[in-house]
Amino acid sequence: MVGLWRKIRAVGRVAEPAPPAPAAPPPPAAAALSGSVQVRHVDAGSCNGCEVEIGSAFGPVYDAERYGARLVASPRHADALLVTGPVTRNMAEPLRRTFEAVPQPRVVVAVGDCARNCGVFAGAYGVAGAVRDVVPVDLEVAGCPPRPEAVVEALRTLTGR
Ligand code: SF4
Repeated sequence: MVGLWRKIRAVGRVAEPAPPAPAAPPPPAAAALSGSVQVRHVDAGSCNGCEVEIGSAFGPVYDAERYGARLVASPRHADALLVTGPVTRNMAEPLRRTFEAVPQPRVVVAVGDCARNCGVFAGAYGVAGAVRDVVPVDLEVAGCPPRPEAVVEALRTLTGR
């Protein structure tokens, strides 16, 4: 235990200083979230690059939780879906069902170029379409993969913090 305290003292705080809050207003569906958003992540067919960056966004350096965003395990506990990847044919129906399981008001964030417009997988035989072709999208995060800062900024746009 003493060793742990020594390590905490030696390492100190690793989180990046908080940048200014995003100037963009939240999407209308997020107006009722009042500073806190519970997020269910859905991989609809990603290469996992976007997942690595989402993991970083919730890690100790970028620390999205300090702005009121929290990952949850069930869509029934969520306010928002964070969807990555082009939507594959096998994931179109599970994504629709996951969306329907999120209570209203609900928000969908398409994370990464594949989620926005199928990216490098556009036209592939197993791809049903972009996320907006399957469920309504309220916010998009560009990049392949998007930087963790961009993911955090989108989450801060939802929480307003
Ligand atoms: S946007 Fe890039 S990193 Fe994300 S799923 Fe597509 S190919 Fe992978």
